[in-house]
Formats: sequence, structure tokens, C-alpha cells
Amino acid sequence: MSKQSQLNVLNELMSACSKCALRSTCNRVVPGEGSATAEILFIGEAPGKKEDELGRPFVGAAGKFLDEMLATIKLKRKNVYIANVCKCRPPANRDPFPEEVEACWPWLEKQIEIINPKLIVTLGRHSLGRFIPNVKISKAHGQTFQKEMPGLGRRYFFALYHPAAALYNGSMRETLIKDFKKISKTIRKIKEETE
Ligand code: URA
Repeated sequence: MSKQSQLNVLNELMSACSKCALRSTCNRVVPGEGSATAEILFIGEAPGKKEDELGRPFVGAAGKFLDEMLATIKLKRKNVYIANVCKCRPPANRDPFPEEVEACWPWLEKQIEIINPKLIVTLGRHSLGRFIPNVKISKAHGQTFQKEMPGLGRRYFFALYHPAAALYNGSMRETLIKDFKKISKTIRKIKEETE
């Protein structure tokens, strides 16, 4: 089965998920979107209001900013994959509870297994913390990490500030734009190391 077909099946299963209470309060599941063969997988925290309405990740103001930064490294949404740690919107955009993140985790693992990206870019401290615990985003941003993930092998991670947090914070915004531009070089280095 092609990677796209595998993702289609996975998305169907996610839509019918009731492993935590979020599905009963959200409008739509937001599985993720982009290329099934993407080299880069961006992972945010959880859908917001607009994402919940449309069933697509990062379609609000933060998403527009993400699209602009992708353009600076000559990429479009359709060239990468964009997903979230939690696939359902928490009420009033509160942080997802640990048990909600836990319940949703196998979906993300399956997405990583199918897409098999060369690089996972974490957006924000919650996403980073789920993969690389005990680091501060203020230190980790713009850096690459390697970690052995059970069942998924050795994975490369690149930490970024969350576009929503940086949107209206001048210095964080500049840092994020600068860090974002390091992604192309990071991918090149990973390819040299692994191919
Ligand atoms: N913030 C996120 O973390 N994810 C989205 O999809 C939108 C905003």
C-alpha cells in the first residue's frame, strides 16, 4: 500500500477515535496534511479554533506565518507534512492534559512510521517536551537533537519556537525566522550523515 493510502486509512481511524474526552467537545479531528513522502514533519501542539472548524492544521494566523517561513526556504505546505501532538482541539485552547497527549500519542507514532521523515521539527515547548524532555525551549531552539524512539529507530529533531507564541513578540519572531532558515542546512547535514 502506498504511503498516502496508509495515511488515508490512518486518518479514517483517527476520525473515529474516542480514546479521550476531547473528541466529544471538538468539532473535527485534525489529523494533519501534506506530502506522505515528506522529508520534514512539523509537529505543533493541538488544533485551535480555526483548525477545529476546517479540520486542517495551522490554518489561522500562526499557520499563515508558518507558510511565510516555509516560503523563505522555498517550500510549500504540500512539500512537507504538518501535524499536531493532539489531533483534537482542547476546549478554549487550554493545554492538553497529559492523559490526552498519552491517548493521542500512538497516532503520531504511526504518522512518523509511515512518513518516515528525515527531520522532525517541533513547534513550541509542548511538542519539543514530548520528544526531548528536560530541555528548555529558550536553550533548545535552533538546535538539532537525536534520539532513539522505541519502534521508530534513531530520529533527528529540530526545535523551534511556536509560531503563535512568536507572532506578536518581536524578538522571538526574529529568532524563529532565523532558526527556520537553518532547516535546509540541517537536512543536508542529516543526508550526509545517513545516506
Ligand atoms: N497551533 C498548533 O499547535 N497547532 C495548530 O494546528 C494550530 C495552532
